[in-house]
Amino acid sequence: MGEIVDLEHLRLSDRPLAVCDVDDVVLEFLTPFQGFLGSLGHRLVPRSYRLHGNIVSAADEMPLADAAVSQLILDFFAAQETWQTPFGDAVSALTEIGAEADVVFLTAMPPRYTEMRRRLLDRLGLPFPLLATESAKGPVVSQMHGNRPLPLAFIDDMAHNHVSVADSVPECLLVHLMPASEMHRHAPKPAPHVVQVKDWQAALTALRRHFANTA
Ligand SMILES: [Mg+2]
Repeated sequence: MGEIVDLEHLRLSDRPLAVCDVDDVVLEFLTPFQGFLGSLGHRLVPRSYRLHGNIVSAADEMPLADAAVSQLILDFFAAQETWQTPFGDAVSALTEIGAEADVVFLTAMPPRYTEMRRRLLDRLGLPFPLLATESAKGPVVSQMHGNRPLPLAFIDDMAHNHVSVADSVPECLLVHLMPASEMHRHAPKPAPHVVQVKDWQAALTALRRHFANTA
């Protein structure tokens, strides 16, 4: 937390900026992760909005230790090219957004898996810049956007990331998009000022309206 993220290689134009999360927004995470768990003889039991404590061995239904779950998440990031697929209409919607705005992917993933994610996004036709960090997202978005007098939007499935961005960049449009999974029913709800959408078509409409109103 609080570390300075290296944005030196990020070049933004003078168009609006859309900062977009990746897992369970652009790429499916939870569904393919469950497939990955199954391939290893494990199973997710969606009792709460947590992976730790909710992954059990299919053989004896015993929960895996937290360290083992953390390692499984890292192993999944390493193998993501085999498992992860686009989330809904993310590819076509982001292509449309990219025609009128800068798009930057801001993913909460250890930076050492950037190369795998980069290849996967490129393969899907999503060549937008990718930044992987485990830092709080708000300060990173603020550092990225600076004081530019241009419209800004942030799309993410996690309520706490919207809190972080709202704290750092109050003028940012916040768009909450998430899978309709059983586990996500337990997810903390975003604050009322966060625009909740069900799919990428609705996200596209919200972004376009914001960009038109603040341009
Ligand atoms: Mg996410």
